[in-house]
Amino acid sequence: MFSTLVDLILPPRCGGCHLAGSWLCGICLRRMRRLEQPLCRRCGAELESPRGGCGCRGRLRSLTRLRSAVAYEGPVESAIQRFKYQGWRRLASPLAALIAERVLVEGLAASMVVAVPLHRDRERQRGFNQAELLAHELRRRTGLRPPPGRLLRIRTTVPQVGNDRLHRWQNVKGAFEWRGPQLSGRSVIVVDDVATTGATLEACASALNEGGAGPVIGVTVARVRI
Ligand SMILES: [Zn+2]
Ligand SMILES: [Zn+2]
Repeated sequence: MFSTLVDLILPPRCGGCHLAGSWLCGICLRRMRRLEQPLCRRCGAELESPRGGCGCRGRLRSLTRLRSAVAYEGPVESAIQRFKYQGWRRLASPLAALIAERVLVEGLAASMVVAVPLHRDRERQRGFNQAELLAHELRRRTGLRPPPGRLLRIRTTVPQVGNDRLHRWQNVKGAFEWRGPQLSGRSVIVVDDVATTGATLEACASALNEGGAGPVIGVTVARVRI
């Protein structure tokens, strides 16, 4: 209980380095490494050379693009851990600002912003869905709309951490379902905190396509190097 209230009762402290004054300090923001070109056109992974591919085309069938703001290392790693597991919910705003910056730089356009859902048992346990907080802040910053229905996680999945690569794809396949009106070709941005292989976002995109969505773009705060 205490952990979920920490940001409501304490003055701001940096999620990266614990310095008092703001939820993400200027030093940590400068230390975060923006992902640099060359990036894979589809999945946004950093490539060794502009001609190199990353072999994601066979795996990302529904997700048309995936973009992350920064590399999952240093201060952003600490900030995301505090945001997710220690209930520092106020971090949603500065973390979503990083996504908004990337959305703008890449010129990503869509008609709505959807969060990667948690299974209701896990959401009840944690008290909130960190991706929904990010999606809410991203909508606020971009003026994009919420979806006209709900994307649901219909089956619990083993936490992705520690899963091997192949297992990740099996783990989340068919785990999501769109409940709502047909999306009639409308484009969607799906938001999560961290992406590794993109398996979770791909599974969300697949469910949204089943619901009639047009292009589905995944965006995350950070990207784990694989
Ligand atoms: Zn800091
Ligand atoms: Zn790729």
